[in-house]
Amino acid sequence: MKIEPLENWGMPSTAEIEVAVASRKKPFIIAGPCSAETPEQLLETCRALAHTGINALRAGIWKPRTRPNSFEGVGEIGLQWFKEVRDELGIPIATEVATATHVELALKYGVDLLWIGARSTVNPFTVQEIADALRGVDIPVIVKNPLNPELALWIGALERVANAGITKLAAMHRGFSTFEKTKYRNQPMWQVAIELRSQMPELPLFFDPSHTGGKREYIYPLAQKALDLDYDGLMIEAHIDPDKAWSDAAQQVTPAMFAQILGQLKIREATSDNVEFQNAIEEMRSKIDAIDREIVELLAARMNIVEKLGVYKRENNVAAFQVDRWIKIFQSRPEWGQKMGLNKDFVGLVFKVIHDESIRIQTAKISD
Ligand code: PEP
Ligand code: MN
Repeated sequence: MKIEPLENWGMPSTAEIEVAVASRKKPFIIAGPCSAETPEQLLETCRALAHTGINALRAGIWKPRTRPNSFEGVGEIGLQWFKEVRDELGIPIATEVATATHVELALKYGVDLLWIGARSTVNPFTVQEIADALRGVDIPVIVKNPLNPELALWIGALERVANAGITKLAAMHRGFSTFEKTKYRNQPMWQVAIELRSQMPELPLFFDPSHTGGKREYIYPLAQKALDLDYDGLMIEAHIDPDKAWSDAAQQVTPAMFAQILGQLKIREATSDNVEFQNAIEEMRSKIDAIDREIVELLAARMNIVEKLGVYKRENNVAAFQVDRWIKIFQSRPEWGQKMGLNKDFVGLVFKVIHDESIRIQTAKISD
């Protein structure tokens, strides 16, 4: 898969256009309303965002709504408004496409960047239709994660788009939906995106704190967390009058709040050349290496005894698994961990895996 870095997308930030900014890595920022509603709402929002240093403006033209009879986007006319905004402000524009017709229309009106939404990524037929419509077109495409936390489905969608010849390709993490009501509108499940990053390290990775959090107060902490995890870009919903927005009112911020959030975000360097920093990191990493070695040695010692225990149980005609013993382990270990300042759930999970392996070892010996 050929993937071009973000610098080659041809979208300098507006701050870079106006001021010569420092050379350090900056996240690629996309901001704008959830939906284009009226020409005035779109233009006023985008004008107010124009001087905040963003790389592209967003607006939804066709809105995939969970329930019918909600506002489903203004359609093609919104592309005309958006094109006028682009012509006035000179900032690239981005929108979501969910069908081949959307792609054709977006290209017709000169949209600069396209994204595939979470509800489309789940469906390989839809993604393939979009990919086919993109064949032979040189445009950046961002693929949002599917609604369900299935990494293969996300990678599959990226592959379909890449196979159509798109090289300015990126992924966007927007959280995963759950049946239970949770703090966030969508559960971040950071590990899914981290796994994507480790499998496709060249692929730029964006984060959408607006759709993940679902409430405006979560945008800043979630965006900071993404930057701490070295994400490459953010997409944030902003609206001139958020409370009156026709979609996603609770999660949109005013352009002024957006500027404040951007100003507060700390951009971490992927690494530092500072010698003192390098030495300190080196020292801590070697301590971690030594501790990990001890953990593995202790696990080997534990499994060695487990194996003997299995043989002994078998000789005495006793089953490998005793539920009371497991209940005791599952209660005591997390409690020990908690007393030592560890997260109880984390210790519980570790012992679940250790116990599964212990059972596997004992039953493997029994069935031999
Ligand atoms: C959006 O960005 O407007 C959108 C609908 O997002 P998602 O596909 O993440 O729900
Ligand atoms: Mn939205």
